[in-house]
Order: sequence, then structure tokens, then C-alpha cells
Amino acid sequence: MIGDMQKWSPNVASIIEHAKQFHPETEVISRMVSGDIHRTNYDEVCIRSRKLASALVKDGYKEGDVIATLALNTYRHLEMYYGISGMGAVTHTLNFRLHPEQAVYIINHAEDKIIFVEAPFVPILEALKDQLNTVEKYIILCDQSEMPDTQLKNAISYESYIEDGDENYEWPQLKDDAACALCYTSGTTGNPKGVLYSHKSNILHAQASLTAMLIKPSDSILMVVPLFHVLAWGIPYYGPMFGLKLVMPGMQMEGEPLFDLIDREDVSLAFGVPTIWMGLLAYCRENNKILSSVKNTIIGGSALSLSTLQEFDEVHDVNVIHAWGMTEMSPLGTTNVPTLEMESMSKEEKYAIQLKQGKPIYGVELKVVDDAGNDLPHDGESQGHLLVRGPWILQKYFKAENDAVDKDGWFDTGDISVLDQDGYMTIKDRAKDVIKSGGEWISSIDLENAAFGHPEVAEACVVGIPHPKWDERPMLFIVTNTGEEIDKQSILDFLASKVAKWWLPDEIIFLKELPHGATGKLQKFELRDEYTNYYMENKNA
Ligand code: ADP
Repeated sequence: MIGDMQKWSPNVASIIEHAKQFHPETEVISRMVSGDIHRTNYDEVCIRSRKLASALVKDGYKEGDVIATLALNTYRHLEMYYGISGMGAVTHTLNFRLHPEQAVYIINHAEDKIIFVEAPFVPILEALKDQLNTVEKYIILCDQSEMPDTQLKNAISYESYIEDGDENYEWPQLKDDAACALCYTSGTTGNPKGVLYSHKSNILHAQASLTAMLIKPSDSILMVVPLFHVLAWGIPYYGPMFGLKLVMPGMQMEGEPLFDLIDREDVSLAFGVPTIWMGLLAYCRENNKILSSVKNTIIGGSALSLSTLQEFDEVHDVNVIHAWGMTEMSPLGTTNVPTLEMESMSKEEKYAIQLKQGKPIYGVELKVVDDAGNDLPHDGESQGHLLVRGPWILQKYFKAENDAVDKDGWFDTGDISVLDQDGYMTIKDRAKDVIKSGGEWISSIDLENAAFGHPEVAEACVVGIPHPKWDERPMLFIVTNTGEEIDKQSILDFLASKVAKWWLPDEIIFLKELPHGATGKLQKFELRDEYTNYYMENKNA
């Protein structure tokens, strides 16, 4: 028997319409490229999104066209999320830190017709323009008076483009499962792969996310996670859905401007990756500043370290919510929110739980399997491949012929993890980064976190390097607080108190900086390539 309820083929534009109607005055704050603070609200964002959508329609663009953004976190990018997707086209977000070759590949693969580009990024596209086969027009995110002198084809300012758009534009009814947005994974190996989200998956993901991170209607959200990376973790959808004030930092992500923005806009909830928070915490430490308005921070994208957790909690009285997800999952999979039991725990017991990546949010199923695909027990010890399934998890990559899931719909995340009796999931490593030493596995993440606890260590990265006897052995790369080398033995002694002896790295290398990719993640393969013969040639290591 089929249920009698209404069919649902949503358009994300209904979210910004909802915000206009019920939260019209709620503010949307952006730090612009100039450094100035721009203030608008959901009423205006909605009207300008309608104008953009109608301008695109007038210009001949249709449902299913792919339209790209190369933009920062500002109100205009939010308008593009709604204006482009809402008229039925696909919003394809580009990362300005992409390697030029990857950018060309992605733009051609997606068949982008327009690129909306932030003025400072115009030179990036000018250098690539002759290789971009499908782009018909470039819309520069500025007003007419700020237009840069550019050779880009059919370049026009954003404000001129939307000027004559219809304020009363009516959003179309879209087909069931219509595509909404497109993001490419960073592709540390091989070509980047596209993930094509639907209107429905984005709305379901947003609704589920609202239940999983202690979000309150009165929250003021700092959106440090970029709108060009996995749809900024869904904030651009659930922010307006719930009437949350949005605060966007534009280009200035360093400690001082972030602190300034948090302070002046009374930010209560801040989202970001660990590297951004390390910069903010260092600024606060050096300048005796306290994050007094912030109540919660959501940290994901890479593993949270104990020292970051401790500093947020003990110095700033900020509760840390550890979260895990990935581009293929829209991205949210698990979160770690405080429970009643935690209230009676010692700090150490509580921290031990908070460092886990959390429990699945409703809608996401998880399992951990061995190499042969057998389910592993939830005993907190058995580690294996983490598989996921759910309505905001991809079925296949964009334009791929085959599904990316097995016959039962499980997607292999590429992460190695454990599940425990209480339902918590802990990421041990990425399958490609786990160190296979003498038939046993060493978690590079656990070893990095241990090294990171050393008071002189600013950043740490552990990589498995081929070894003549053990298959692979860990090598530890360190950036110290001062940038100078320190006594290796002191680090080994420190680590020996935290991890098993056979986990200790065979070599420690000091670097001035570690290689980070376009989304701030460590590029371990670069170090692995550079040092690949080190233990083979250096038999005493
Ligand atoms: P990429 O494009 O690099 O794949 P994603 O944002 O999709 O970027 O990366 C997802 C991966 O990031 C996960 O599979 C996992 O390995 C890692 N990751 C995300 N959140 C966490 C976390 N809280 N702890 C450890 N690793 C994480």
C-alpha cells in the first residue's frame, strides 16, 4: 500500500523564500575583498537571488546548465547558491587554490557555461582562458565601478548583470531528484571526481544537520568553511532554513581578522578545519584574547588534536564538537555532541570521548569491514574499512558509467576506522595513509596527535616510508613553534610515553612548513614521494 501524503520534488530556493518570509531581518555579514564589512539580510538576499535567476533565464540559460563560481564566502556567493540552483541550473563551486591543470580539467569536465569570479581571481582565469572549452561568459563579482581591466570573454560585472533582473521572479517546479550543485573531490591521486548533489539530498542533509550540532535559532554562525568546499558543510542551506545569522570572513582567514569578526558580530557558533583554528588560537594566546561570545565550535575535515580541544575548553570555555564527513557525503556523517553521561566524567574521560569522530547523524548508516568485506565487531578495537549508506551519500561520480557503491548501496569512504560499544566511530587513518609495519597497522593520525601534544611542536605529519625489513616504517615530519630544530631524542622520549614502542618513528625530519592541499589537508603523498628511498638506502635507520 502506498502512503497518501503529497509528492515532494523540492527546490532549494524554497529555503531562501522561507527565510525571507519568516526571518527577513536576520543579518548576513560579509567581509569584502576590500576589508570592509558588508551587511545585508535574508529579505535582500532572497530578492537579489530572484533577480540573478531571472537574469540567467533572460540570458538564455536553462535547467541543467552547469554554472561555476570561483568565489569567497560573501553574500554574493550565497545569492549564487540560490539564484543559479533555484532556476534549475547546477551551481558548480571551484576552489581558487586548485592547481591550474586540475582547474582546467574540472571546468572542461563539468562543461561550465559561465564562471562567476571574484575580482582578485580574474588573473587565475586569464591564464587558463584559452584552454576552457565551454565557458561563454565571465561575471565579475563587483559593481560596474570596480570592474577590472580584463581580456576575459564577455566579461560583465555582477551588479550590472542582475540590475534588470525581476524582483518578483517565480522559481520553477523542478523534476524529482533534479541536480542542484556540483563539487569535485581534491583528487590527491588521479583526476578529481565530481559529486552531483540534488535539491532533495541537500535539503535532507540540511535538516538532519540541524539536529546534530547543538544549533539554536539565536546562534550567530561564523562560516569559515569555504562555500567552494563541499557546500560549506550545508550551512548556506540550514542557516536560512533556521533563520541563523551568518558571518562570513571573505578572504581574511588569519587569526587577527577572524578574532575581530567573531568579537564584533557576537559569533556563538564557529565552523572550521583544525588548521584555521590553530591560527586563531595562536593569535589569542599571543595577544591575551578570549573568545567570549563563542559557545560551540564544530571541527572537522581533519582529526581534532587533544591540545586544540584542551585550549578551546580550558582557556576559552568553548565546547568543541568533533565532526566527520566527506565530499561524497554532502558532507556530514558523524558528530560528537556532549551527552548526559559526560557531565559526570573527569576532564580526561570526557576528552577521550570528544576526540572520537562521533555517532552517525540520523540518515547515515555506518559499518566497518575487513579486507574480505566481513562485518567487524563494535568493540572499539577491530579496525577496518569504513562503509556508509544514506540519502545524501553519492550513488556514482558525475559522468561515471558505473556506480561507486556495492550491490547493497554501501560506499567505501577510503577511511580506516573502529566502532565501539557505545556507537562512537573513530577514524584511524585514510586507507592509503595507514602504515603497514611487519604485518601490523600503525595509525598515522594517532601518532601525529601524540607528537602534536609536545609543547614545542606546531604541526606534525607522519608518513609510512618503504623499509627493507618491516615493509613500511613511520617517518615523522615536524614544524616547531620557533621554526628551529629541537632535540630528536626529547621527542622520542615524549612519544614513548604515549604510544607503543614499535610505533616510534625511525626518523624525525624538521621542516619549515608542511605541504597542504587546496582544502587545507596535508599532502602526505608529496613527502612520501620525496623520502621514498630513505629507509631503503639508509640501512641503519
Ligand atoms: P577530499 O576532497 O580531500 O577528499 P573531503 O573533505 O571530502 O576532501 O575529505 C574527506 C576526508 O577527510 C575523510 O574521508 C577523512 O579521511 C578526512 N576527515 C574528515 N573529517 C575528519 C575528522 N574529523 N577526523 C579525521 N579525518 C577526517
